[in-house]
Amino acid sequence: MDGNVKKQTIRDIDVSGRRVLLRTDYNVQVEDGCVVDDLRLVESLPTLRALIQAGGHIAICSHRGRPRGAPADDLRNAPVAQHLASLLGSEVRSIESCIGPEARAAVEALPPGGVLLLENVRFHPEEEANDPGFARELAALADVFVNDAFGTAHRAHASIVGVPRHLPSVAGLLLEREVKFLERVTEHPEPPMGLVLGGAKVSDKIQILEHLLDRCDVVCVGGAAGSTFLAAQGIDVADSLVEASGIVPAQRILQATQRRGDFKLVLPRDVVVAFGTAEGGQVRTVPADRVPTGWRILDIGPATVYAFREALKGMRTVVWNGPMGLFEREPFDRGTMDVAFILADVEGTSVVGGGETAAAVRRAGVSERLSHISTGGGASLAMLQGHQLPGVEALLDAKPAAMGA
Ligand code: ADP
Ligand code: MG
Repeated sequence: MDGNVKKQTIRDIDVSGRRVLLRTDYNVQVEDGCVVDDLRLVESLPTLRALIQAGGHIAICSHRGRPRGAPADDLRNAPVAQHLASLLGSEVRSIESCIGPEARAAVEALPPGGVLLLENVRFHPEEEANDPGFARELAALADVFVNDAFGTAHRAHASIVGVPRHLPSVAGLLLEREVKFLERVTEHPEPPMGLVLGGAKVSDKIQILEHLLDRCDVVCVGGAAGSTFLAAQGIDVADSLVEASGIVPAQRILQATQRRGDFKLVLPRDVVVAFGTAEGGQVRTVPADRVPTGWRILDIGPATVYAFREALKGMRTVVWNGPMGLFEREPFDRGTMDVAFILADVEGTSVVGGGETAAAVRRAGVSERLSHISTGGGASLAMLQGHQLPGVEALLDAKPAAMGA
């Protein structure tokens, strides 16, 4: 992310009477024809309502699941359109194509403020291949392009980076907000700053750590990432989930941070361990260096939660990515729920990234008390690792502010 280049948003353009191609991330699960978790739809409403109010003719383009370039009946967008209509309280038409004569006719038939949801764009292999001809066909549907699909902004796909080659392209309000918060914490965080890392994809998380380490005053590590750090210190974690390729980078980080007197790295002190994986198996809390043979770490313990809370006291910025354990299954959700409560108590900026971490925060019921919960797993991870998002780079640069503004 090039933090110095601001992008134009829907506030910078007039869509009245114009055809708008709006890219959203409606990659939601549908069961029995109903949307299971509508967060991504809800989060897109501010942009959608603004475009409706401004009198645009709106064609929404989105993907769902992994159809691998061919139509799949269980991945159609029609149930999403139905749910979106109920959220908006107005009609949302859906069609079974996203390019070609049917799509063009449907867009032409839209009244000002009318909304149409095009078919799953990934039914065409050209989408993920970023095929220029396909991008041109999508672009032909509209006069302007609005990208509000933050969750897909790290993908160089046709509907993300191809379309902006042909149309004036600006950010939607969700994408703007996501980038603003993730930039704030990665580029100019208010100090002191704390980072909480967990989750399973350890090498991903270590890249976040490597990018943000110099800006952090405190780093707390739990989850399988924590087990990997324990193993990197030579502690026997028995059958715990450890990413072998993460050991050497973890050792490098341990060494680098030992030399920083003003820095605190907090690793698990006690852990919740289980014998076997079957439900109803034995569960114990033990010191982190006493994991019995044949047992595995599935959560951080209460002494670790206490240490995290103490270490994060007074932080003005806290970033969290990765659950503290196997939070999908009780009783291994305790550590993750407690960390959600710690984040909720942060006085300053609290930002959560990562698909599972965001789900955990919502389950803890503290969403309202955090500054920002990212809707994009991979995209937020990329930003926390210091990468630029191709979908953001493709948008029009903001005009330089007027003198004295
Ligand atoms: P996110 O999606 O928030 O970026 P990850 O995908 O990296 O997070 O990891 C989330 C998964 O990690 C969760 O499904 C959780 O059950 C699992 N997990 C976390 N800690 C452990 C652990 N100690 N042992 C096994 N699984 C774990
Ligand atoms: Mg995940």
